[in-house]
Amino acid sequence: MSGSSTSGVQERDMSVAVAFAGMRRAAEVAFRAGCPDCRSSFELGAHALRLAIGATSRTTFYSFTCPDCGAAVRKPAGERIVELLTGGGVRTLRLHSAG
Ligand SMILES: [Zn+2]
Repeated sequence: MSGSSTSGVQERDMSVAVAFAGMRRAAEVAFRAGCPDCRSSFELGAHALRLAIGATSRTTFYSFTCPDCGAAVRKPAGERIVELLTGGGVRTLRLHSAG
């Protein structure tokens, strides 16, 4: 009982370190985006993007503010984009309250 608990702590420490490494990496992720208003394209950090997940893929979209003209841009997000954004640390909002 006493011996196994030590290795359990080590394992836990390791997974925490991995989680932090992932977070640090996510902060450096930049997403390429374009503005339909002024047609400029730019790179946005994860903090500049918002992901809204609706009940269906039709109501799932990501949004950001154009750094050039200030327009609020909203684009549909497919399954792959959702995975990419959530994996990159983008703030996710669930529109439908499931229960
Ligand atoms: Zn723009």
